[in-house]
Amino acid sequence: MQKEQEHTNLVWFRNDLRTIDNAVLASACNSENRVIAIYCFDPKYFAVNKHGFKITEKYRANFLIETTTDLKQQLAELNIDLLIYYALPESIIPEVCTNYNVTDIYLQNDWTKDEMAAENAVKSKLENITFHKEYNQFLFHPEHINFEISKTPQVFTVFRKKLEKYVSIRETVSIEKRSEENQIENKTVIPTLQDLGFEDFKTHPQSAFPFNGGETEAIKRLNDYFFETKKLGFYKKTRNGLVGKDYSSKFSSWLANGSISARTIYWKVKQFETEHYKNQSTYWLIFELIWRDYFKYVSMKHGSQIFKLEGILGKNYDWSTDKTQIDKWINGETASDFVNANMIELKQTGWMSNRGRQNVASYFAKELQLDWRIGAAYFESMLIDYDVHSNYGNWMYVAGVGNDPRDRKFNVQLQAERYDTNGKFRKLWLHPSLF
Ligand code: FAD
Repeated sequence: MQKEQEHTNLVWFRNDLRTIDNAVLASACNSENRVIAIYCFDPKYFAVNKHGFKITEKYRANFLIETTTDLKQQLAELNIDLLIYYALPESIIPEVCTNYNVTDIYLQNDWTKDEMAAENAVKSKLENITFHKEYNQFLFHPEHINFEISKTPQVFTVFRKKLEKYVSIRETVSIEKRSEENQIENKTVIPTLQDLGFEDFKTHPQSAFPFNGGETEAIKRLNDYFFETKKLGFYKKTRNGLVGKDYSSKFSSWLANGSISARTIYWKVKQFETEHYKNQSTYWLIFELIWRDYFKYVSMKHGSQIFKLEGILGKNYDWSTDKTQIDKWINGETASDFVNANMIELKQTGWMSNRGRQNVASYFAKELQLDWRIGAAYFESMLIDYDVHSNYGNWMYVAGVGNDPRDRKFNVQLQAERYDTNGKFRKLWLHPSLF
């Protein structure tokens, strides 16, 4: 036993920051080796990008601090230590490997360019370590789907119909508590907002996303939205809302950094349907989770093409990069009060509804004809729930270079009249003193 304890499995957490239904963690624990974990606040994600935006703004930075704080506690319950550093993974992981005699590294299988660059940088500094990569972020596991990833349909409905009736969802996995000997001395500390270059701030009192990060909060929200208030049962009717915390599930931020899994949500919907009732709303939440999967498959199929101006359609439009127009959009000073209210909400809270996102993105790309990647980069900076696949997939879709077969343009005036009929949402962000 002692000899085996000398070998260590290292779980490298990235966007799978949970202990519940974490296939990567479960694989690492399926061994006699010691199991330890690491998370790196990678300075590259807090730098300024070429458009002048911080890649991660204060809202998501704060959410990440809360998330890792909770993860550390949840792992401690399993006698697993989480080492946390504000450092490049390639500068710290080799040292940890040497110090703890790491033989195996377990991590989520990610394929986008920044994640691959980080992984390759770490690999280039290590020898004789086995990497175990696993998909940990899907509803429909890539090993179960009934088509090749390169054949992922160009249209969502075709994708959905190929999967939802024919491919089953995996059961969630659980992890057993390890013995106390698994623990190590862990003196690492979680960086503060100041360490990451921000000042403390308070959540806006009118924020539609007044939640904290971490899997404990995610499960609390799920139980509240599904079982305590049963808002799930009305989701299809409320999902286009703009004001308040309950018009939609608000799961996206936890899903984005992996503090809850799509499978956990799926099986809880099934539990709700068994214990209470099944209706269009319970189905629709799963329908939306399929959209989330869809953009992951699209990005796997098309690789870095999702970051290119011509998108996956290879369409060449005349795009502008007019700084004045971009700044007006960011600051909520355009000719549309509906766009402005949404942009101010984003700036002051790190959140915007799906209806809002569609409208402001369409306005940016189709009305102002601005380079959609700058809008996407601003969202990347500001959104608490930023997810590379959902963000770039949706932006391409709205900009007419992605998966929308109809290439629509939103009439922001009509949208405002329909979804903000009495102007409550616009008043909230344009005339806050009235509230
Ligand atoms: P709900 O309506 O409760 O839906 C449940 C879940 O389904 C969501 O949490 C999300 O995981 C998934 N989902 C719903 N709609 C979509 C969609 N259109 N695409 C992919 N998944 C979806 N979502 C992100 O998670 N991160 C992003 O960075 C992001 N950027 C976007 C950019 C634009 C331009 C647009 C139009 C949409 C973007 N979305 C993004 C999708 C969507 O707006 C959010 O997922 C949704 O508003 C989150 O709120 P919710 O969790 O309450 O969603």
